[in-house]
Amino acid sequence: MKDYLVRVIGIKANVLGFACVTTGLVNEACHLHGASPTACAALGRAITGGALMTALLKDNQRVALKFEADGPLKKIIVEADSTGAVRGFVGVPEADVPLKDGKLDVSGLLGRDGFLTVMKDIGLGEPYKGIVKLRTGGIAEDIAFYFAESEQIPSAVGLGVFVEPSGDISAAGGFLVQTLPPSDEETVDRLIARLEGIAPVTEMIRSGRTPEDTLMAIFEGIPYHILDRRELRLDCACSRDRLERVLFSLGTREIAALIEEHGGAEVTCEFCRTQYHFSREDLERLLAEMKAGEEETRGEGRD
Ligand SMILES: [Zn+2]
Repeated sequence: MKDYLVRVIGIKANVLGFACVTTGLVNEACHLHGASPTACAALGRAITGGALMTALLKDNQRVALKFEADGPLKKIIVEADSTGAVRGFVGVPEADVPLKDGKLDVSGLLGRDGFLTVMKDIGLGEPYKGIVKLRTGGIAEDIAFYFAESEQIPSAVGLGVFVEPSGDISAAGGFLVQTLPPSDEETVDRLIARLEGIAPVTEMIRSGRTPEDTLMAIFEGIPYHILDRRELRLDCACSRDRLERVLFSLGTREIAALIEEHGGAEVTCEFCRTQYHFSREDLERLLAEMKAGEEETRGEGRD
């Protein structure tokens, strides 16, 4: 099954449903980062959550999620855009914790004491930013809590990643259901009952059920339209130019030190692990540009 997302909308009631399968891209991301089994589950859930949130974006919009807490994983960063491109990384990919009740303990690895920050770049000046305290550190509950607290949208979120003993991901996916005002009580009750009764996401995917099947199970008895299907992919928007800007932000003293001590610099993109090499000449040119920029600023300051 290719990675994709399906969006549906209730015909009579104000309800939206999204479901996706992300097995391929989560597998790719986990191997790329050499993540431990529990870190794979954490990163996979967060990436899938980010993928689901693209369903709410308009063209050219982007969303970023940052989970930061007191556990050994330290943080998870995910970015996704309206074209279905997602990328992500974790603070300490090799960190792991023992199983809890026979399951990978994502909350234990990320920690419960921390925050989820959601940023949306909606193309109008300042990006939108919402911060909530983590609810459980289990990712799905935290995203649902973010929607309820920060956007006042009652939401149900299910996320699942199945990590094989080999370290491969054999199933990853999730769903997001939201009710919009004015909400219809009967529909909400029906949805809650259905959500309590459905099988875990990974079980559905492993038994060959599609995102359409998941939504059909959740929306049983609630008429809906399928809005669209969108392809999802792991894709990093990094480039040499962008990494050069990272170097630029270090400041002249740091660049001078890199030239002096290392005669160049290796910069690794945190999302895709691509390495960019900057030679002594590259850094000297950058340093000259930075100094020229500083002169200009000083000149302006005198006016
Ligand atoms: Zn990259």
